[in-house]
Amino acid sequence: MQDERTEYRGVYVNGEFHDGVDSFRVENPATGEPIATVAESGEQGVDDALESANRAQPEWAAMDPADRGRLLYRFAEAIADHAEELGEVVTRENGRPIGQSKGLADSAADYIEYYAGLTTKIEGETVPVPGTQQAFTRKEPLGVSAQIVPWNAPLLLCCRGIGPALAAGNAAVVKPAPEAPLGPLKLGELATEADLPDGVLNVVPGDGVTTGAALTDDPRVDEITFTGSVSTGQTVGKTAIDNVVPTALELGGKSPAIVFEDANLEGAVEGAMKALTLMSGQVCFATTRVFVHEARYDEFRDALREAVESVSIGPGIENPDLGPLVSEAGLGKVRRYVEQALENGATALTGGRTPDRDGYFYEPTVIEGADDDAPISREEVFGPVINLYEFSDEAEAVRRANDTEFGLYATVWTNDLGRAHRVANGIEAGSVMVNQYSGSYPQTPFGGHKKSGLGREKGMQAIDHYTQLKTVNIEYGDASDGALDG
Ligand code: NAD
Repeated sequence: MQDERTEYRGVYVNGEFHDGVDSFRVENPATGEPIATVAESGEQGVDDALESANRAQPEWAAMDPADRGRLLYRFAEAIADHAEELGEVVTRENGRPIGQSKGLADSAADYIEYYAGLTTKIEGETVPVPGTQQAFTRKEPLGVSAQIVPWNAPLLLCCRGIGPALAAGNAAVVKPAPEAPLGPLKLGELATEADLPDGVLNVVPGDGVTTGAALTDDPRVDEITFTGSVSTGQTVGKTAIDNVVPTALELGGKSPAIVFEDANLEGAVEGAMKALTLMSGQVCFATTRVFVHEARYDEFRDALREAVESVSIGPGIENPDLGPLVSEAGLGKVRRYVEQALENGATALTGGRTPDRDGYFYEPTVIEGADDDAPISREEVFGPVINLYEFSDEAEAVRRANDTEFGLYATVWTNDLGRAHRVANGIEAGSVMVNQYSGSYPQTPFGGHKKSGLGREKGMQAIDHYTQLKTVNIEYGDASDGALDG
């Protein structure tokens, strides 16, 4: 089923491309046209990748950690050197405006660089025990890490997971999303160019139910990192429990922003605009519920409407403010949520339509008057849609912000220091930003409370996830004096 008009990419295993059991098309969401034919790995590709990863891992783990770090620095450099090309590849497959895509390619390099610096700092502890014994802990690699990646930020999310996994001495097999496999496949090639040993990083494109499930359910996998929706995360999590392997689940969100009466309104509007336009709102931490104090509601709403109405829309490659949604299915979902909200009495302050053009575009949309328990207020819409709500006091704002099954991220806008601390403490979310939107770095831990996930990515904490602790206790006196209990 290889299409002569498009480029072809294989399965990346053991430092080279191979054919798969089948193939699938990747399309440009700005036009709906096919741009590549990609091999479906299937069970065979997964089998080859796991064999290669398991062969490469012991030597990778046994390498002088400083040398492992040097190779990862080279990998980071290769990514940064190719940021322009990587950005274009990703924009063509997932539609993201090119300026954002290049920025994320640079951020992907930053993740590898951060973890390259940690290879020599993965330390155990000495533990006080009685007599002539010396007890200490070692942080040892788990083995082979399976990384399941979504389409919305494929390079960054891939490097966020493989950075700590490889730094700790694991090998990795990445399963990118079928909508956006080209960027992660290029990362595989760059790892080889940077002299990472063959098999340390493999990329197995394909769909979730065949290739993804074959990977996560294989007994040769020692850890699973899943980034995606709650429902798929639950399936993957059950598999991990069945195989008794550690898993990190990075799932969805319904992030609130709270704008208090003393807020810098310009900053708060800018934050809402970023949330609306970054990847067309198809971001796990996108602010989708904005609670504005009644004293400033009208002012905020007018400023937001004005800003939204000046947004440029177009193909990602032209670097507009707002690109297309990733697929026809994604567009259909957004339309359904907005139509249902409008049928139930909410109003669109602006947007609420598809522009008259090819591709999967949706106008930036601000909804007012939706109930707190309406589907559009509670579920992930994953599009350029924000809901506005009015509140009267701090306790009410925190209660309504927390009234969701998600808990990934939240933003607070206030110039009152005491309130900033109180509200940040009261919000049920893995990350809380005050007076800024985004504000995330490789060194800042990230993950979800409630149904937004399990475990933490990023920061030094991620190293703990990709290692297992071993206790060693050495009796160095007369063995008969040793305290042998249990
Ligand atoms: P998805 O759950 O549909 O797919 C995610 C990945 O899982 C894809 O690679 C898919 O092919 C794979 N998959 C599907 N079924 C599988 C199975 N049975 N076994 C193994 N793998 C399987 O999610 P999506 O639509 O690609 O991504 C959007 C979701 O990701 C949103 O919910 C978003 O909030 C979330 N997300 C979370 C974070 C985070 O860091 N918390 C970051 C980005 C996206």
